[in-house]
Amino acid sequence: MKSATGAGGLRSAAGLRSASGRYFVHNPGPTNIPDRVLEAFRRPAIDFSDPEFVSLVESIWAELPELFGGADKVVVLTMVGHGAWESSLVNTLDPGDAVLIPDCGLFGRRWASMARDLGYEVITTETHFRRPTDPNEIADILAADTTRRIRNVCIVHTETSTGAVTDLAAMRSAIDAVGHPALLVVDAVCSLGVEPLRMRDWGIDVLVATSQKGLMLPPGLSFCALREPALQRSRSASTPRHHLAWQPRFEDDHVYKRFGGTPPIQHMFALRAVLDVIAELGGVDAMAARHRRWAAAVHAAVDGWGTDGPWQINIANPEHRTSAITCVRSGELQAGPLVTAARDRFNVSVGSWMLGAHEGDGFRIGHLGDLNEPMLLGALGGLETAMTVLGMPHGDGLPAAVASLAATAPDPAT
Ligand SMILES: *Cc1c(COP(=O)(O)O)cnc(C)c1O
Repeated sequence: MKSATGAGGLRSAAGLRSASGRYFVHNPGPTNIPDRVLEAFRRPAIDFSDPEFVSLVESIWAELPELFGGADKVVVLTMVGHGAWESSLVNTLDPGDAVLIPDCGLFGRRWASMARDLGYEVITTETHFRRPTDPNEIADILAADTTRRIRNVCIVHTETSTGAVTDLAAMRSAIDAVGHPALLVVDAVCSLGVEPLRMRDWGIDVLVATSQKGLMLPPGLSFCALREPALQRSRSASTPRHHLAWQPRFEDDHVYKRFGGTPPIQHMFALRAVLDVIAELGGVDAMAARHRRWAAAVHAAVDGWGTDGPWQINIANPEHRTSAITCVRSGELQAGPLVTAARDRFNVSVGSWMLGAHEGDGFRIGHLGDLNEPMLLGALGGLETAMTVLGMPHGDGLPAAVASLAATAPDPAT
């Protein structure tokens, strides 16, 4: 029978999946939601002008700027990340303006295709699906732009389709080195809560993020975190816009205005709960350190599988890998059956390959959000079991992950 849910989570239509225990979510979004945060959604409705709700919103607004490493203003959208992407463009550009969006992976491509559909001119880089965007290439393109046509440099921080992380501080330096006035607009959808983010120190003008990845919430909320140069630009930008416009949201503090309509009440209860969870975890930098350990363990497992099989991490240079996700190449071997078997037979959900057939095949392991070591080992163990059952060649991955976690385990005394 289909769609029974319970403590064990979703049941597969095929009925193969174990009815006991947990369903392991290791997609690069949506991610696991802490129980306390799920419970926050069960609170009954409240009038949005009730002082209790208004003060809850105030408390969230007071904390949001530091979540992004020093924003001057934050716009909260009741939308998925695509809405925040669009918002980042229409508020900073005049019709027909040129933007630089590197060809870094599928998310960069989607952002670029959105910009084209909106009538902007997209300037891009060489395709680079196995490394992050090179700040030197950006500097060269900006240096050649002597008429300063490029208004925004749009950078995907963590490319969820490749597993690369871009050096944002170096990107800022590249822009400054050529004295180019373009805004630095960053997609941090897959890096918020996972990678360090320093809007102030790295001179990020607009940062786009969402709820359903490192922030451990369901999809449905997104953010445009802004610094003064972006706010200034938005006052003169002439692209027509209405619901996505930033300025009206700052005109008065009424909660209805801040959301451009009815506030998402239960999402705010949940966001409040998540901010408390993050504080208890020691803040976003402590979360980044945990994610680095988890990522290293996954990399060790994949390297182990690859000693006797086709498995290979898409991003070869360890310094260029994000802590959020690992994209695993399987070369000639079709990884689709592995993704299906892991999910339907062993309760482990991972992401499928996004880069297309000409880039070979593979799958993507998300290791972000509400996790711990045994959950991670469980997911890797489920994948390794599925490889074994399917007769897919592989070396031992699990012992390498255990060794990596043991070697990096924090001392309980510190
Ligand atoms: C998930 C993701 C998006 C899209 O977010 P949605 O909420 O699905 O619209 C954009 N960029 C990156 C890097 C992502 O990982």
